[in-house]
Amino acid sequence: MLNFIVLSGVKFLRKNSTSISFIFSSLFFLSAANHLVKSSSKEIVAVEPLICDLVKAMVPPSQSVKCLIDRSKDLHTIKISPSQAKSLKEANQIYTLGAEMTPSIRQWLNNPRTLVLGVSAIFNEEHNDHSENNHNEEHNDHSEINHDHHHGGGLDPHIWHDPNNIGKIADLIFENINKNITFKNNQNKKALNERFISVKSILEDLNQWNKRQVAKIPSDQKTIVSKHKAMDYFANAYGLKTISLLDFLGHSSSLRPRTISKVFSELEKNNVRVIFPEQSPPSKLLRNLSLQTSTPLAKEIIYVDGLMPKGNLISAAIHNTCTIVDSLGGKCNKKEGMKIINRWDSLN
Ligand SMILES: [Zn+2]
Repeated sequence: MLNFIVLSGVKFLRKNSTSISFIFSSLFFLSAANHLVKSSSKEIVAVEPLICDLVKAMVPPSQSVKCLIDRSKDLHTIKISPSQAKSLKEANQIYTLGAEMTPSIRQWLNNPRTLVLGVSAIFNEEHNDHSENNHNEEHNDHSEINHDHHHGGGLDPHIWHDPNNIGKIADLIFENINKNITFKNNQNKKALNERFISVKSILEDLNQWNKRQVAKIPSDQKTIVSKHKAMDYFANAYGLKTISLLDFLGHSSSLRPRTISKVFSELEKNNVRVIFPEQSPPSKLLRNLSLQTSTPLAKEIIYVDGLMPKGNLISAAIHNTCTIVDSLGGKCNKKEGMKIINRWDSLN
């Protein structure tokens, strides 16, 4: 069979000598085009899992995106491994939430191929030249967060818990891709535009859905208590209050009676009936605190620093909202939430 193909190929070439040069030049053209494709769609490296999920939802499937850090790792404390450093070195474009969220990325921030998409890009005046129209509005948000809610100094990096902020991150990614990444054809450019519009519309639906769910929480139970200060953007967006236990516990690993009584009176003052664990199983300290203050832990954990073991940016958000709403005496509409998750899934 193979012989037959080779022989008839030779016969064909003999008969059509003018076609030979055409075939060879086509082969050459194809390999050159392949080469071009490779060099123009070099890898995008997205540092944090949630940024990786967002970028993948936005770029056409032909564009390769590498997720640098596994979703099971703690971004606040992770160290960049040699193989991760290699990926960063070879990347065509690096997207990150920045050093406020992922301190170990600091040494890559001066790289001209790195784009910071985190709190310093969204709220910091110095980095805000590109969005002058929104400047006043954003400035107000920024000062409110800093002055009223932030105790530890520095900017609170957990901005994505407000879907409006994910929308702002998507704007920056879209602008950057349009400027820096050459697509091999117009089809991909069109796909990028369409996907961007879908992403923004899903985020707006998530925002509206969040509003409707949080509205079901009884007005005297609107306080989220968790360990580290991570839900302030969510709370600010939807009219809730937060208490961060680290403000009371510091970094000590044991509970002093004075600490317990301080936490107890704070919980009582705010009519708090539940504490939200951020890890599973909850730490001994948190279980102990729950016991000592007679305040039960929520049945499910909230994912405050990234994604769930499975799922995406939207499913993590929906899970968190439902956990908060259901634990605080409301009733979350999960079915409606699933529809938003499915729309996001269809982009991947
Ligand atoms: Zn955090």
